[in-house]
Amino acid sequence: MTQPYQHEIVHLETEPLPPNQRVVFAIDYDRTYTRDPFLFNHLIAAMRARGHRVFIVTSRCGNGYDSVCLENQKELREATADAHCQVIFTDLGPKDWHMVRKLGIKVDIWIDDTMHAVIKTK
Ligand SMILES: [Mg+2]
Repeated sequence: MTQPYQHEIVHLETEPLPPNQRVVFAIDYDRTYTRDPFLFNHLIAAMRARGHRVFIVTSRCGNGYDSVCLENQKELREATADAHCQVIFTDLGPKDWHMVRKLGIKVDIWIDDTMHAVIKTK
């Protein structure tokens, strides 16, 4: 009998969308990706197979070299290894501001359990 969560990620045989139809997705880590990594790994694989760009974007600190940053980098690198996508740390800053202003990446669709972390007003 097949047990749930024992399937390997299915790599979709699909034609990628034309560049003008591709979407940038940002998926939150804590209490979003972590709630069902199996699901999100499949979702991310499907998104990428269609030609979309996918990032895991967390408010956690991870851009420095202090112990907290290094610990966060290590934890997320290990926990998201099967997602095969880049992890972005915003160091508690608003996620949309960080993506656009610091990285020049306009996210089209956010998947996040805490929407005020995406657009945080001061
Ligand atoms: Mg969250």
